[in-house]
Amino acid sequence: MQRPASVVKELMENSVDAESSQIDLIVKEAGKLLIQVIDNGKGMSVTDARMSFERHATSKIIKSEDLFSIRTFGFRGEALASIGAVAQVEMRTRKQDDELGTSIKVEGSEVKEQTPIACEKGTSISVKNLFFNVPARRSFLKSNPVEMKHIIDEFQRVALSYPQVGFRLYQNDLEVYQLPSEKLSRRIVSLFGSGYKEQLITCQEDMDFIKIHGYIGKPEHAKKTRGEQFFFVNNRFVRNNYLHHAIMNAYEDLIASDQFPFYVLFIDIDPRHIDINVHPTKTEIKFDDEKIVYALVKAAVKKSLGTHSITPPLDFEHNINFDALSNYNHSKTIQGDNERLETNFTAKSFNPIQKSSHQDWQKLYEGFERVPEKNGEEKEETPSSVRVESAANNMESGVSKDLLYTENASTFQLHGRYIITQIKSGVLVVDQQAAHERILYERYLAMLHNKVGASQQFLFPQSVQLSPGDFALIAEMEEEIRSLGFMFNIFSNNTVVINGVPADVQSGSEKELFEGLIEQFKMNRSELKLDKKENLARALARRSAIRSGTKLTLLEMNTLIDELFACKFPNYTPTGNLTIVTMEIGKIAKLFNRQV
Ligand code: ADP
Ligand code: MG
Repeated sequence: MQRPASVVKELMENSVDAESSQIDLIVKEAGKLLIQVIDNGKGMSVTDARMSFERHATSKIIKSEDLFSIRTFGFRGEALASIGAVAQVEMRTRKQDDELGTSIKVEGSEVKEQTPIACEKGTSISVKNLFFNVPARRSFLKSNPVEMKHIIDEFQRVALSYPQVGFRLYQNDLEVYQLPSEKLSRRIVSLFGSGYKEQLITCQEDMDFIKIHGYIGKPEHAKKTRGEQFFFVNNRFVRNNYLHHAIMNAYEDLIASDQFPFYVLFIDIDPRHIDINVHPTKTEIKFDDEKIVYALVKAAVKKSLGTHSITPPLDFEHNINFDALSNYNHSKTIQGDNERLETNFTAKSFNPIQKSSHQDWQKLYEGFERVPEKNGEEKEETPSSVRVESAANNMESGVSKDLLYTENASTFQLHGRYIITQIKSGVLVVDQQAAHERILYERYLAMLHNKVGASQQFLFPQSVQLSPGDFALIAEMEEEIRSLGFMFNIFSNNTVVINGVPADVQSGSEKELFEGLIEQFKMNRSELKLDKKENLARALARRSAIRSGTKLTLLEMNTLIDELFACKFPNYTPTGNLTIVTMEIGKIAKLFNRQV
């Protein structure tokens, strides 16, 4: 057992194996306090109940041939024993035909109590205070949002592979999911939100060797985050990069190279052709003829994509340029430069901002105030960022503005992406998007640490409908999101009503911003293991930074450069990409074989 989600997985799989038609999962404090799974399955006799906590107690292998044809989940008989060793476990179970059930309490592998009890048919297992007796492992657990995310992942996998079973998930007494017995397509929509109704394409291919069925997402709905890709082999969730690659290959030319399509695909194959025992957590799989499986999966997906007559969009850049142009016109007509400089930050934050001017990213610099300096800020940086950034300072491009930048130098924008300006020693090239990301990141991080997020309030609050899973994550991150400057109320029904957004957020689309924030949070968490605050600051900075392709006025360019050099670490984005590059005049001269 590594974390609460591993317990969730084992308990839910046991309930499925017991042929339950309804399975409820209750978690408190992201599973650190309580994980309870209640099912209405076949239950256990007194002896079985007692036995179930012994190692190798499985009831699931009877003959040795069974080893080759296993289709149920468990076959190691270790899960309950390992859970009982590291938590306080209470089990109540009754077989349908038994009059009385059994209650057993186990703590640190010891059976503390065993009594007959009147209870519902089926099994209820509560796991309390996971790792209570292994403090080192308990302290190793991540923050609640991160652990909750893992739990939701496991819950979704099981719920997807058994749509005919009803599931419920409660998080701290709040209902997150209430899934009736339903068709797979409905189950996908219940899990991921009604937006998925329009984006599913059926995929079905029956061959002698394998059968494939499920749904794939339309290319235009592909996301930048991995996480909504599900493969089930003989109804068991598996990770397999090779098969993932087969699907990516089928989508070739239909999605951008950094995007991932949605898919939930079930492969049925004779168990003799696979080896599911390659990894103890049983999510990895080997096929005895990988190449054939690859080709068949790819062909099946291609065929589904083809029958929905999807043609590749010709130019991914095009939309961006178009947006940039309209932004540009907009800003020209709305505001003069002077007006912008005089606006007061605090006064503005209490003014409702109208939707129309909202898209205007220039607002970012309205009456801008420097990020408040704070003592002891360094020690709050995570090791990863410290490493990147101290390396940055030793790099050639680690220039300081005071040394190099000349105020009245000519500055212009190159291809809508880079700002070129003359500096004392040569030429400075700024990547506008990367630079802005750095500026916003440092500002948000300071806000999070100081809890001084300034908001712009809306005249009309915006209601945002989230998927249940994302809603549960928001509930865990509530405080941090508020300290960024979001003002919102959480309602039931997965609805969040947003009354205000951070003062320097450019987007007019609150829903997209909110969802983007969650998406970025998921992505950064899996890639970089940051602490929550830094993760959020990164996510929001990435989301809100001006895009490449946005035209900038001279004042905007100069402000951007000023703000960049006011940063603690101006040379790199929070993820380690360069923000600026300098070209020494000497090097330019050399190109022409000249002396400086
Ligand atoms: P495995 O699932 O690998 O057999 P476990 O340690 O997970 O091993 O469970 C041990 C045994 O306890 C199972 O084989 C099963 O007989 C019994 N068991 C566990 N959970 C349930 C449940 N929810 N309903 C009925 N029987 C269960
Ligand atoms: Mg099991």
